[in-house]
Amino acid sequence: MPEGDTVWQTARRLAVLSGQQLTATDFRLPSLATVDLGGRTVLETVSRGKHLLTRIEGGATLHSHLKMEGRWDVQAAGARWRRPAHEARVVLHTASHDAIGFSVVLDLVATDDEETLVGHLGPDLLGPDWDPEEAVRRIAAAPDVPVGQALLDQRNLAGVGNVYRAELCFIAGLDPHRPVAEVPDLPRLVARAHALLVANRDRPDRITTGDRRPGRKLWVYRRRGPCLRCGTPIVVDELGPLGQERTVWWCPRCQPALP
Ligand SMILES: [Zn+2]
Repeated sequence: MPEGDTVWQTARRLAVLSGQQLTATDFRLPSLATVDLGGRTVLETVSRGKHLLTRIEGGATLHSHLKMEGRWDVQAAGARWRRPAHEARVVLHTASHDAIGFSVVLDLVATDDEETLVGHLGPDLLGPDWDPEEAVRRIAAAPDVPVGQALLDQRNLAGVGNVYRAELCFIAGLDPHRPVAEVPDLPRLVARAHALLVANRDRPDRITTGDRRPGRKLWVYRRRGPCLRCGTPIVVDELGPLGQERTVWWCPRCQPALP
């Protein structure tokens, strides 16, 4: 599940292209099928929450989002692909590397118009301008919203996905349905979100428990059976605004509904 840490790692992988000229580009989706960026130089790729912005000479930005299954592979030019060709949405070729976007969602916009795609996002947990006070202010502005929903809302803070929202609620001892107004220490919750993403941005595996053993890396996300801490069966439910519900896992004993 791509979350802010995965996207940050992807931006770093794509940084191999920075400063290199595109020898050819191959867009494999109808809306961009006629686009050819060959001959232009890649300037940089930055992450903003779960979004990737690849800036290209001439004032163009290739915006990509990994959604649930997407990934970018960056590999030696001509090397064999690790995913099926029909999943490729774009291929960027340079003299030395191929970058293949598999199952990514793409837009091409003027670099000056990037804000139309990412301007709604709250402070970026892994951005150079991370602003915890602003994230707290945005979350607190909707006190009736369940905290598990507020953490996932990229307009509040950018980078938390379904894994981290479940894990953060566990670590903070909060039933994810508890309204924001009933969270005892919102600044601490936001600080934990930042610390978790920073701790995981350089790791191949996502770990929230501090335990690297298989099956013990995460507290509650996708856990069936007993809570790692207290042994109570983990509960599963859907949580989110109507039509955008996502699965959430929690321990009813470690994460009480009321303070
Ligand atoms: Zn428990």
